[in-house]
Amino acid sequence: MFSRVYLDWNATAPLRAEARAAVSSALEAAGNPSSVHTEGRAARKLVEDARTQLAHAIGTKVDAVVFTSGGTEANAQALTPGWSLSGRACARLIVSAIEHPSVLSGGRFAPADVSQAPVTRDGVLDLDKLRALLSAGGPALVSIMLANNETGALQPVEDAARIVREAGGVLHVDAVQALGRVPLNAAALGADLLTLSAHKIGGPKGVGALVVCNGNLHLPQALIRGGGQERSRRAGTENVAGIAGFGAAAAAAHIKGAAETSHMLRLRDRLEKGLATIDGAVVFSAAVPRLPNTTLFALKGIRAETAVIALDLEGVAVSSGAACSSGKVQPSHVLAAMGVEAELSRGAIRISTGYATKEGDIDRALETWRKLSGVLRKT
Ligand code: PLP
Repeated sequence: MFSRVYLDWNATAPLRAEARAAVSSALEAAGNPSSVHTEGRAARKLVEDARTQLAHAIGTKVDAVVFTSGGTEANAQALTPGWSLSGRACARLIVSAIEHPSVLSGGRFAPADVSQAPVTRDGVLDLDKLRALLSAGGPALVSIMLANNETGALQPVEDAARIVREAGGVLHVDAVQALGRVPLNAAALGADLLTLSAHKIGGPKGVGALVVCNGNLHLPQALIRGGGQERSRRAGTENVAGIAGFGAAAAAAHIKGAAETSHMLRLRDRLEKGLATIDGAVVFSAAVPRLPNTTLFALKGIRAETAVIALDLEGVAVSSGAACSSGKVQPSHVLAAMGVEAELSRGAIRISTGYATKEGDIDRALETWRKLSGVLRKT
């Protein structure tokens, strides 16, 4: 029996030991955080301690953090018409063409009020096009990811923040893939709103946060209304154990951040050097700053979905750049936006690592790929 190699950390990261301990201890808390008695206050403390841990990890005010059921809900909440900084409410939305589907969907904006800002061939937001879109109408909410989940390409968020601010708009940044992988300071970034998710940093699945970094912003309309939890910004009894796990994971990722990032960078170099010697696969966004843990590569003539299954049978878990929904494999919208030809994009495979990935895991993936790629090319 051989051990498995998990190289799909951008899909989800294994639970960190610190998060597991925090979740299991919080599961013992009997009270509802809204209750005033001792049990309730103990549960409230777990939620508030986690809020402090997360705020500290990203350099923001504690009361800026609104816990949600994940990155998808935080994005849906952010994409609400009516945010305002300039006295005029944002009635339209501009998203980059490479956003996660939860942003591309446009949230609560009518489809006619949503426009897409294109990216360069390297998969980086085109700032001139963003400027042009902003000047072609009233104040806009702009949503840009900090790091792309497929290519890992880092986006020019600080420059975009200046451009959006000058145009009287509001900037939302989906930082789900960046947290824990590159230094993230909310104040330095200049984002007004930030989306985070616990399970990409080794926290539990099903918990995330919308961070309202700009204290002058007021939520126009809560997505989930009901009780007054999260200062009426997100109703519903808090996921106490999930939130405690998120806080613990954020604190651990923050403390170990620099060491983990350089470890992932070393692994990425090892992988990409190895790939180049096998068959000269194309690595996407290779010429621009990328996440230290992500390599999206393709080989002409290969079907990624077949390759992913073949690698899985050999014990190596990776993912394809294509999305499979309703039984139909869709080519990656990210690679399409970058102008990659469909034939190459169909062969895109993503390898993403984490702090616990070992050099031996990379070598095993390379060995397996060396064995399979020639065969897969012929099928
Ligand atoms: N945004 C990005 C960039 C993502 O990669 C993901 C998940 O893959 C999400 C948002 C959604 O986060 P969640 O899985 O917590 O809903």
